[in-house]
Formats: sequence, C-alpha cells, structure tokens
Amino acid sequence: MKKVHVFNAGPCLLPQVAIDNAIEALKDFKGTGVSVISISHRTKEWEGVMDECRALWKELLNIPDDYEVVLLGGGASLQFLYVAMNLLENKAAYLETGVWAKKALKEAKGLGNAYAIASSADRNYSYIPKGYEIPADLDYFHITTNNTIYGTEIREDIDCPVPLVADMSSDIMSRPVDVSKYALIYGGAQKNVGPAGVAFAIVRKDILGKVSRYIPTMLDYRTHIDKGSMFNTPPVFSIFIMNETLKWIKSMGGVEEIHKLNLRKAETLYAEIDRNSMFIGTADKEDRSIMNVCFVMAPGKEALQDEFLAFAKERGMVGIKGHRSVGGFRASIYNACTQEDVEALVDCMKEFEDLKK
Ligand SMILES: *Cc1c(COP(=O)(O)O)cnc(C)c1O
Repeated sequence: MKKVHVFNAGPCLLPQVAIDNAIEALKDFKGTGVSVISISHRTKEWEGVMDECRALWKELLNIPDDYEVVLLGGGASLQFLYVAMNLLENKAAYLETGVWAKKALKEAKGLGNAYAIASSADRNYSYIPKGYEIPADLDYFHITTNNTIYGTEIREDIDCPVPLVADMSSDIMSRPVDVSKYALIYGGAQKNVGPAGVAFAIVRKDILGKVSRYIPTMLDYRTHIDKGSMFNTPPVFSIFIMNETLKWIKSMGGVEEIHKLNLRKAETLYAEIDRNSMFIGTADKEDRSIMNVCFVMAPGKEALQDEFLAFAKERGMVGIKGHRSVGGFRASIYNACTQEDVEALVDCMKEFEDLKK
C-alpha cells in the first residue's frame, strides 16, 4: 500500500490494529465461522462486544454510575434532534461556535424556545465567545466542545448552573473529561472513536422523562437505555470497529496518555505554523483546537495555496484542504494520527518555505 499521512477531518484515520481486527472479523467473527456482518445481534458473541464496548466507554472516561452509554444510528446530526426532543420543555440556550452548533440549535428551535446565548459568527467562528452569563432557568445549555471546521476548542470542562449538553463529536477521547459536569455528551464516532455509522450518547439518567411532549420510540433515549442499544438492529460493523478502537486507546495507556501525545502533536504543528513565514493560523491562539489545526497562506502568499496543496499531496499528505467555509488548510490530528505524521507535514511546510523564499 502507498505510504501516506492521513489528516482527514472525518471519517478519520483509525488505528491499524482496529482495521486489521475488523478484516479478520469480516472473515470469521470470534471463531464462529460466521462473518461479523452476518452474525445475529442476538447471539452471546455479539452481546459480548456490546458489553465490552460499553464497559470500555465507562472505564476510559471514568463515567459515573448514574450515566448510561448508548450507541445509535443517525450520526451526530440526529443527536441534535434527540437532545431537544428529550430535554427541551421551556427554554434552552446554545453557544454558537460554528455551523454544527447552528444546526444543533435549529433542531431545538423547531421544537420550542431555544436561542444562541453568544456567537463568534462576527469573525467566522475563529474564537470561543466568553463573558456570557448562563441563566439559571434553562432546561439545558448546549456547547460544541470542538469546532471541527474552524479549529477552535473548549478544552476545559466548564461550570454550568443548568444541565450541560455537549457535542463532542471531534474531541471525544482526546483528553480526560469530567463527565460529572455534563448531563449529556454525544457525538458521531467517525471523528475519533470509530467509523461512520454509529453515534454515541453518554446520558445522565435523571435528566430524562421530564418533558411533556410525546417522544417517538426511536428518538427516546430511554428506549435505547432500556434495551442496551439493541432496541432494533444496531450498526454492528461500526460498533465492532469502535470497540477495537477503544481497546487500542486502553492499550495506549488510556485517555490521559493519549492526551499527552495529542498535546505534543498539536504543539509541534502550531509551532511550525507560527514560525513559518508562508502560513498563519486562523483560530485565536487561546482557543486553538488540539484536534483540527486550521491555517492559511500568510498575507501576500495567497496565490501559492494550490501550489502548496499539490506540493503536499506529492509528499503523501492526504486531507489537508481546509473546509470550504474557511479555506486554506486543515490538518486533523486525531488520536490515531502519529507524531511522525505531524512531523512529515512540518517537514513539508519547511521545504515549501525554502523553495519559495
Ligand atoms: C462532523 C460533526 C457533526 C456531524 O456529524 P454527523 O455524524 O455527520 O451527523 C456534528 N458535530 C460536530 C462537532 C462534527 O464535527
């Protein structure tokens, strides 16, 4: 296979061991002689995977006992609706830090009274708004901890006087999280913990059952908690690979060790962006994401953008084109991305600067 460095924003790079084990399971799932995609999800072998996966979530994030982890189809985008459907009775506030936050808010507005408490739209979401006050009478306050498109991140667990809901699609398992500060954490798997096709939700059970609306069965978290995420056929293959990915995180020493590696990768890349005369970062320094690193050509060098993209591609860099709403470049350096991958990109940026100086 061609040697490349994958910086895709999602679906993302996954650990090779997870891919290898998935290939094996496609041929023969746990010695059953049946492929993992043909096995009945009602067998004890499959239930073993579900149980292991849930247990790994709880172990890796130190999830307290009054929470449950559910695995669902529909991606993070359907979770936008789940959140409002299950929690919105009177009023909810959202922190508008990008397109995903806006889409989450839209679903809530469709069901009731929801609004943006603060927004960073004025500078194309290049920072995290600060200094806003969270009213005490909200059903919940919603944040997007990592803004995948703009490369900004809320890297601390904030104090919140009302139930805190977080879309952690693109930074889950990248750092230790104090789950007890959140009422609900959700996301799509495909940014850091698995392939596309499965979403996760970590739900504090006491926040459920408080709204007066009818909740369709499939959109009610309680359905999936009661049935162990097997009310209907779960996305078995995606969950299998998620489980393998979580096993890999554990083998790496858990989320705390992964976090150290992530910090080092991010520091390496940001240091080069700040040093290199060809490039500048787009996010405010204090709000920079350790998962999605966004940068553009420095002023006066804009015309070289396509040339750098081609230059980097030739050197095996995959997926560094920025999102169309920001332009420039974005290197997504999720858990499975290595220090070597980052250094290869840094070398490429240095070479380009030498060439153009
Ligand atoms: C990708 C992404 C989403 C959307 O995820 P889907 O699973 O494609 O619906 C939502 N929020 C954030 C922060 C994302 O990065």
